[in-house]
Amino acid sequence: MTIPPGSVIGIVGGGQLGRMLAIAAAQLGYNCHIFDPAEHSCAADVAAKHTRAAFDDLTALRAFGAAVDVVTYEFENLPVEALEVLGDKLRPSTRSLAVAQDRAREKAFIEGCGASVAPWRQVSSLADVTAAVLKVGLPLVLKTRRYGYDGKGQAWVRSRREEQSGWQAIGEEPAIAEAAIDFVAEFSVIVARWADGRHAFWDSPENEHREGILRRSTVPCSDACAAQVEEAREAALSIAEALGHVGVLTVEFFASKSGPLVNEIAPRVHNSGHWTIEGAVTSQFEQHIRAICDLPPGATGLTGSGAVMDNLIGDDVGRWPELVSDPRLHVHIYGKGEARPGRKMGHFTRVGPRA
Ligand code: ADP
Ligand code: MG
Repeated sequence: MTIPPGSVIGIVGGGQLGRMLAIAAAQLGYNCHIFDPAEHSCAADVAAKHTRAAFDDLTALRAFGAAVDVVTYEFENLPVEALEVLGDKLRPSTRSLAVAQDRAREKAFIEGCGASVAPWRQVSSLADVTAAVLKVGLPLVLKTRRYGYDGKGQAWVRSRREEQSGWQAIGEEPAIAEAAIDFVAEFSVIVARWADGRHAFWDSPENEHREGILRRSTVPCSDACAAQVEEAREAALSIAEALGHVGVLTVEFFASKSGPLVNEIAPRVHNSGHWTIEGAVTSQFEQHIRAICDLPPGATGLTGSGAVMDNLIGDDVGRWPELVSDPRLHVHIYGKGEARPGRKMGHFTRVGPRA
């Protein structure tokens, strides 16, 4: 059922992804209502309304659900049971959330969809870590099952001596142990899916990370990634279909010598898709709004020859005077306040001229 412009879109989570969703929604004539516990939410700064309450506050969630026409979420570390009170109004549903927020469940789900992942084991004790080392080999990376992002909740184990320090470094939390992948490059598949199965892909960006944080996304990707995009798209679509996903879904891949390996999924718009704001006819943010409101898909082709998006992490945001002085750059500052180290403060995109 179409949710027409003039309706109210609820967004659970008040970070920069919510902010850019709200900006895209406003362009199409919707009003957004942000649900976030923080005193200052950079999404609420550009939205019509803000409910400030804990994510597991059922009374507040029910009132929020009653005040909006459709609800979406902009990050995945949310209590699934609490969000159930939003019922059918929630798009994507809690199924996408439940799978994406638990790395063990996520890996098993991806394998169940017929896609390949790095060799992995579930671990919940030091003895499990030792057993995993024997099975998947060294080096391996420990990743907590829950609450990891931007490389947080991860520790590398490079030798038998590091089993214990690695296990302690991740707080002895339930985790997965994953073999190190000697990847050629990393890329992502961003797909928007409608309730009736229609879907649209963007060109796949090649992604460069430093210290577990995305630094740069480039479109078009290199030939090494391009050769794997078709297979990766099939994997991403089968995951989206198995989830019954409505909205944008992002699947991160390692381009390995033996083909594309899924790293992780995000049931939402993604940092590696920010270039679509200026670099594609329809941005990932607008397309997500179109999909959850059941408007027709927008075109996803490039507006130029390609695009390069760089993140502004922590103090990088201090570069804004130089960046806004370069007329070729599209500068985005998220209005988050304090530039703590590792915090995503903004990004800038350069769209390549048409050939
Ligand atoms: P996050 O949720 O923090 O994004 P990821 O699992 O995507 O966690 O890890 C962040 C980055 O760390 C990846 O994009 C990749 O660069 C590196 N990384 C993660 N797992 C592996 C691995 N198994 N082998 C090699 N590099 C990895
Ligand atoms: Mg990642």
